[in-house]
Amino acid sequence: MERDVKPNATYGEVRRTAEKMDWEKARGADYWEYRRKWTEYPQRLFVSEFPLHLDIETTNACNLKCPMCPRNQTSYRQKSGYMDFAFYRRLIEEGAENGLCSVKLNYLGEPLMHKDIVRQVQFAKKSGIIEVMLNTNATLLTEELSRRLLDAGLDSIFFSADSPYREKYNRIRVGADFDVVIKNIISFVDIRNKGGYRHVQTRVSMVVMDNEPEEFEDYKKFWLDYVDLVGFGEYVNHDFDYGSEINPAFACAQPFQRMFVMWDGVVCPCCMDDKRSLVMGDAGAEPLKVIWHNASYRRLREAMINGRYHEIGLCRRCYVPWANTGGKE
Ligand code: SF4
Repeated sequence: MERDVKPNATYGEVRRTAEKMDWEKARGADYWEYRRKWTEYPQRLFVSEFPLHLDIETTNACNLKCPMCPRNQTSYRQKSGYMDFAFYRRLIEEGAENGLCSVKLNYLGEPLMHKDIVRQVQFAKKSGIIEVMLNTNATLLTEELSRRLLDAGLDSIFFSADSPYREKYNRIRVGADFDVVIKNIISFVDIRNKGGYRHVQTRVSMVVMDNEPEEFEDYKKFWLDYVDLVGFGEYVNHDFDYGSEINPAFACAQPFQRMFVMWDGVVCPCCMDDKRSLVMGDAGAEPLKVIWHNASYRRLREAMINGRYHEIGLCRRCYVPWANTGGKE
């Protein structure tokens, strides 16, 4: 049976009109080649020498307590910490030597809380990484930090802002202030536009929970005046078992695209492993390239290739075999 592989299963997005998507026109051929591989490798179930992308959890600390975040679900028990710069440098150096295309400087946690964030962006760019990106709640994104991140070479920034309504936003983004966050995001976009950082992509995204359809329409209407893309993801309860049925055609894209390195070096295979239940290796003890091809990764990929994802406990319980956002609205 042909496998059903969705390269971007976990989120959808709505674009601005083509003529306003300036950042796309400003990206080079290397970026588009990387995006081609991002789609093609998992669809061919092809294993590259090195992951195309690293998700580096520079810190799992956060200044908010949002109920939809896995950090705040009952089973999350990791202590908070910050990645040491010497260790970060080693990850990037190994990546750069092996053709790594992109890094995202967060997994769980707020990357702007790391004192080294500007240096981390700068080092990755100087090392030749094509796309350096981060997700942020934008609460700490002052004008000065916006300028420093742009100067350091940040390519893409994804803002989490879960409602266009002040009262609702303040209720669900516990610890954030709607007016401050809106001001910070608009100011970042303004600095980008005036500063000649054409290639920088901006996206605002929300987790879709019990929203009325008009809320998403209002969200799009508001944000598409400012940012390039509006993204949305389904709410996922990380404590829930989604595996009452098996999707026989499913194969997951992530083990063919990316690798997650936690702040303390633990390597996990995907965005769903917040509990670290499928540890693939320790990046503090072994090169990433060795981990990417080790027996744990081979077993995971063979399960995908052979239509037996449900034999991996984490995957059997996972919502991704049923995700239907799939990249576009
Ligand atoms: S748990 Fe398995 S199926 Fe779910 S995202 Fe991770 S690798 Fe993919």
